Amino acid sequence: MIIFNLKCDSDHHFEGWFKNKDEFDRQLKHNLVSCPQCGSENILKTPTASRINTLPARSKSGFRNSESSVVSPQEIKMISEQFIEKISNYVEENFTYVGKDFPEEVRKIYYGEAESKNIYGQATQNEIKSLNEEGVSTIAIPFNPVEKNKLN
Ligand SMILES: [Zn+2]
Repeated sequence: MIIFNLKCDSDHHFEGWFKNKDEFDRQLKHNLVSCPQCGSENILKTPTASRINTLPARSKSGFRNSESSVVSPQEIKMISEQFIEKISNYVEENFTYVGKDFPEEVRKIYYGEAESKNIYGQATQNEIKSLNEEGVSTIAIPFNPVEKNKLN
């Protein structure tokens, strides 16, 4: 499976999934690729093509070439686990845990009622939605933080 970042002549960006590059070239040549937003068949490939190899990794250097990077699902899983652990450590070291008070605390900081600081905690989808509507941006992190700071 190969994923191309594509855009149409109206500059709509979208992703196209193809069996391989030949299949993409064939579909493009026969105008079988169209923009999901406006239906335009004038499609360009944008330079940052990404590729995911869904075949089992044959060898460490298998399927790698200079054009694009290829990773196996196993590698993605490992990298994302390491990545999540890094974020988790960073957040725990640099942010203050406020638990379920997060929406309240983040609002206080946003409206200048509390000192500005990095905080993290839990919020429901509804709470996040109303925070966003008030202009407070939050980032969801893919782990459940350990309540370290609370134990102090
Ligand atoms: Zn378009």
